Amino acid sequence: MREYLGHPVFKIVSEVIEEEGTQAFVIGGYVRDLLLRRPSKDIDIVVSGNGIGTAQKVASRIRPSLQVSIFKNYGTAMFHYGTEEIEFVGARRESYQHNSRNPVVENGSFEDDQRRRDFTINALAISLNDATYGQLTDPFHGLDDLNDKIIRTPTDPNATFIDDPLRMLRAIRFAAQLGFRIEENTFRAIARNRERMCIISKERIADELHKIILSGKPSTGFLLLDKSGLLELVFPELSALKGVEARGKFAHKDNFLHSLKVLDNICPFTDKLWLRWAALVHDIGKPASKRFQPDSGWTFHGHEFIGAKMIPELFRSLKLPLNEPMKYVQKLVALHLRPIVLAEDVVTDSAVRRLLFEAGNDVDDLMMLCDADITSNNADKVYRYRQNFELVRRKLQEIEEKDAIRNFQPPVSGIEIMETFRLKPGREIGLIKNAIKDAILDGVIPNEYQAAREFMIRKAAELNLKPA
Ligand code: ATP
Ligand code: MG
Repeated sequence: MREYLGHPVFKIVSEVIEEEGTQAFVIGGYVRDLLLRRPSKDIDIVVSGNGIGTAQKVASRIRPSLQVSIFKNYGTAMFHYGTEEIEFVGARRESYQHNSRNPVVENGSFEDDQRRRDFTINALAISLNDATYGQLTDPFHGLDDLNDKIIRTPTDPNATFIDDPLRMLRAIRFAAQLGFRIEENTFRAIARNRERMCIISKERIADELHKIILSGKPSTGFLLLDKSGLLELVFPELSALKGVEARGKFAHKDNFLHSLKVLDNICPFTDKLWLRWAALVHDIGKPASKRFQPDSGWTFHGHEFIGAKMIPELFRSLKLPLNEPMKYVQKLVALHLRPIVLAEDVVTDSAVRRLLFEAGNDVDDLMMLCDADITSNNADKVYRYRQNFELVRRKLQEIEEKDAIRNFQPPVSGIEIMETFRLKPGREIGLIKNAIKDAILDGVIPNEYQAAREFMIRKAAELNLKPA
């Protein structure tokens, strides 16, 4: 495995431990990713002695001024070298108490340290010791599991997940990220211990959800979450989209599977985390808006507005950021039907202008979401939608070039209205401003100052106001 140890830090560690008479291995995710040829930014090194001391010696050999961060409580030390983050820790053994995922730690052997790892593919280690430099240590057959694409715990899966339930989510996240399958016993143990999820913080859960959402095919992860029973516990609003109800000849589609399809569909086109989130939750308002009409079947009228209203509470409950990302997701959820409705009808300039005005700079993301949302099995319907969509796209571009609505600023400000008619702040200002905006969006006047000013004077006259 020598050829894998290309990073310059490995040689330096090797020299330092030779002088110290200690031992060291590079271990865990970094080794896994090297073997899978995936990029990886954090290098974990376990040493037989004191991790902090070794880290300091290695750092000072790289550059005396190199800053080392020390975490005494954890017995770890970390510094940056090149673009990598390099962490040192002494080999340890861990034991757990029932109410916490934080272990009681004591010094241990390398074997102990490999045994405390969550999955066999994460327990691989490569020696940095002079005599065995570059040799793989693989007591749990992680290399076989890497080749066979299997996620499996090194020891009893039940105990592994009871000790630290976050590992259940990690298993599913790795399955999604790497395209691996979870070995049967391991998976059964996840389902059996799912209630243990209650001791995991929302932030850790959200981190794993983000990683699933950013994987190549997120549906893999969400289907496993569902199958293991974890989905209901970590994301009940998504779980509520599951199922098909039929009455007579009417049945609606399974909105959970549909949402996953939309999310998968958008992945080749964007790596933006929050756009992917929007794809996942765009129909979150469907259960609350579901109605049955005996003559026409199931309807979900207004689900986009109900969905948008649910977003703040959803973000709060998952401890997701409540500032820009929330507003952005909320906006996309609220507007997600608009381009489709537009495409179904005659595409008028005025409707396109209004969409541009409301979506602003997010209009391209909105179009991408709507494109992903076309999941019908009816090929004719999909073809027709896509054709109309192209038309909407062309119009959006045309009108944006002509009228610059995307970053719409009213050409006549409220202050100018007040000064022109000697008005105090009040209802009239808003009326006139809105009328100008509508006139521009409806194409009655161009988006220009002179036209807007003349329109303002006409509108004011209707309200019996004259310029001072
Ligand atoms: P990623 O960096 O993509 O999140 P990773 O496997 O590298 O994945 P890290 O959090 O960087 O995860 O952890 C590095 C290594 O530490 C893991 O490969 C694994 O060996 C070990 N590890 C991390 N978290 C746990 C855990 N909850 N239980 C057991 N071992 C863990
Ligand atoms: Mg890592």
